[in-house]
Amino acid sequence: MLHSIRLSLLSLIIPSLPFLASAQRTPFAVGTASAAPGQKATGYLEVPAGVDAGTNIPVVVVNGAKPGPVLALVTGAHGTEYVSVIAVERLIVDLDPAQLSGTVILIPLVNIASFEQKVAHVNPVDNKSMNRFYPGKADGTQTDRASFLITKQVVDRSDYLIDYHGGDLDESLRPYAYWGATGKDSQDQISKQMVLAFGLDHIIIWHNRPSDLGASRYLDNTASLRGKPSIVVEAGYAGTVETDDVALLINGTLSTMRALKMLSGAPHYIENPVWLEKTIDIISDGPGIWYPLVKRGSYVQEGMKLGYVTDYFGKVILEPRAPEAGVVLHVNAVPSLKKGDNIADLGVVASKAPL
Ligand SMILES: [Zn+2]
Repeated sequence: MLHSIRLSLLSLIIPSLPFLASAQRTPFAVGTASAAPGQKATGYLEVPAGVDAGTNIPVVVVNGAKPGPVLALVTGAHGTEYVSVIAVERLIVDLDPAQLSGTVILIPLVNIASFEQKVAHVNPVDNKSMNRFYPGKADGTQTDRASFLITKQVVDRSDYLIDYHGGDLDESLRPYAYWGATGKDSQDQISKQMVLAFGLDHIIIWHNRPSDLGASRYLDNTASLRGKPSIVVEAGYAGTVETDDVALLINGTLSTMRALKMLSGAPHYIENPVWLEKTIDIISDGPGIWYPLVKRGSYVQEGMKLGYVTDYFGKVILEPRAPEAGVVLHVNAVPSLKKGDNIADLGVVASKAPL
């Protein structure tokens, strides 16, 4: 019953948004990609050289034959979270402008240097995470300048945004999504419908996000603070590209687009997902060799041993335990540990679903 109420609420809310693209059925350009209605175009967001090298970030515009909202799909901020990149690559090929109401902006690989050089977590050009420096600035290092361009060219021109991530080369991760409420009820209800339509069965309620427009840090938060309902989704782990993980992200995207009335057909809403009220990072306090005793997706009790760390002579120097009961969202996938590395990330199950 509750489910049908949610569905009717969605149909009431989503068409009432003012769509950026619906007023004019003219070519839609992002960077050098310009697509007329009913067409698909490729191009680049050209990040100019500054204190360090410039870069060209690939962008695809799918301009639907029918009017509708603008949805941005952005991935590859962490260029070795491969499933998230491959899923959006597939959507570039599969999305058909003839079937589409509205416009989709696809950015399949923000962090090209990470992908090409197989460097996890950061942009090797400036050693910065490419999902921590939004809204960016025109005169910073490459990550700052790329973030600035994405804010101006992609976020500001979209009605909705999905940011894709996953387990990096050293992270064994089970799929999950983030939903961050802004306090604006109508917007939060839409982003909640998006995350339910996406269909991942564990959803983190992201509290206490930065509220400063000038220091929004994360891409989805940048869009949320600018009034655009946004979610983050994560699937894939440790360099693998498994069909099931890719399918989760592709099918979730298509279902969300149906919920936004950009594609025909009914969305598939996840029923009774596991809502997580917080996450706990377990951080290594020194170097060593990691031996896990839990896997991604394991549920653990408070106090349960997650694994152990030895020095290079085999002596156990650390036995990290779960500070609270929860689910292992990701666990370090490789034996290498240095001080400050994330050993595991636990999600704590919320006592009730958000309203
Ligand atoms: Zn990531």
